[in-house]
Amino acid sequence: IRANSPAARDVAYALHPYTDLRAHAENGPLIIARGEGVRVYDDQGRDYIESIAGLWCASLGFSNDRLVAAATKQMKELPFYHAFTGRSHGPLIELSEMLVERAPLANGGAAMSKVFFANSGSEANDTALKMIWYFNNATGRPLKKKVISRVKGYHGVTIAAASLTGLPANHKLFDLPIAGIFHTTTPHFYHEGQEGETEEAFATRCADDLEALILREGPDTVAAMFAEPVMGAGGVIVPPRTYWAKMQAVLRKYDVMLVADEVICGFGRTGSYWGCQTFDITPDILTCAKALSSAFLPISAVVVSDRVFQGLADGSKTIGTFGHGFTYSGHPVAAAVAVETLKIYDEMDIVGHAQRVGPYMQAALKARFGAHPLVGEVRGIGMVAAVELSPDPAGRKNFDPAAKIGPRLVKYGEKHGIILRSTPGDSIAISPPLVMVENEVDEMVERFGRAVDDLAVELRR
Ligand code: PLP
Repeated sequence: IRANSPAARDVAYALHPYTDLRAHAENGPLIIARGEGVRVYDDQGRDYIESIAGLWCASLGFSNDRLVAAATKQMKELPFYHAFTGRSHGPLIELSEMLVERAPLANGGAAMSKVFFANSGSEANDTALKMIWYFNNATGRPLKKKVISRVKGYHGVTIAAASLTGLPANHKLFDLPIAGIFHTTTPHFYHEGQEGETEEAFATRCADDLEALILREGPDTVAAMFAEPVMGAGGVIVPPRTYWAKMQAVLRKYDVMLVADEVICGFGRTGSYWGCQTFDITPDILTCAKALSSAFLPISAVVVSDRVFQGLADGSKTIGTFGHGFTYSGHPVAAAVAVETLKIYDEMDIVGHAQRVGPYMQAALKARFGAHPLVGEVRGIGMVAAVELSPDPAGRKNFDPAAKIGPRLVKYGEKHGIILRSTPGDSIAISPPLVMVENEVDEMVERFGRAVDDLAVELRR
């Protein structure tokens, strides 16, 4: 690292999220200087295809003049106002309306009712949890407050969201989860399915595990389940076809609310507008973020059913005002950018685009990696996929995590001009900007393939 270079200054002053800090001090950062379409460029001018849209978020890619104009216009008109104590503003109103209009049907089959804003996926999930606790307090069931999520589910990093996140190795670092949060079976047939078990029987077993957990804890004490329609950061785990019908039947039986975490799945990623629609999920609450503003500014939303809204509204009388909100809940500039983002999604028919390019991308990944000697499973749906690396594909084995195979592949990716993301189990997640077209898919898969081939050569040495 050259003295006084930006890399040296980064190492000297910046503390990075989710980063091996000792290794970072030695290697320095990859500094991204600008973006255009599905590519980003480093400070040396080298281009990289962004196979993961930043962090599964930049759905319109890394340049968009309309979003710049929307932000600029709003900054000139009203750079900030808040939504506390009855205040409001135009972008918040318009975005609330647009989200309710586009939301999937709620539990019970009626339309979703209202929207609450926050700044990140973690905050949205913490907010949903506080809403549920408040709802049960307000409706005279203060003991109904335990929550279930799933092993390998990802819901964020604030204390409650990190507890919901089902990564045991991460929990150990912080003495989590907090009391009352439990994790049930990951619906990943490839790894969790048993000898001789059909996928259908496996889905039934997942629902049975959920029911057993609810019964063990006591249905009167279990308030909600948080789940991504398709798990993202846990390794792009697409559940069996009948999984969600069976899971929802159990939840309904015990009046356990369902929070659909659409932070990755929302806005076309799985080939429907919402992951809920891909899997016929009717949630009580939906959380979203990331692609809501195509990542141009931080904003997240909690969309609630009418039943939840009525509980929150009545609570003001029975137990006191819902005392929760962020300074920047519904920030006007972020909301204006989100409004423009949703308009662009409509105009470009983002769902139709994902339905066209998604199968093309899945087929290209299967063709390139399906029989690769270093690949165990290629899986995905819509425009999200994973390629799981394996030392023994026939035995469905994973590499020893200490070998850091995924991170090593990511380095080879950089050499070949592609940004890759490794998730636990050395599953390389692919979730490109949704604007990606077929010839860019080809180029992405080609660069990715060269990186995997390089890794294979290294491992044979
Ligand atoms: N939920 C899901 C499904 C996510 O993938 C993420 C982030 O990757 C989060 C929640 C947390 O979002 P944030 O990082 O904006 O807090």
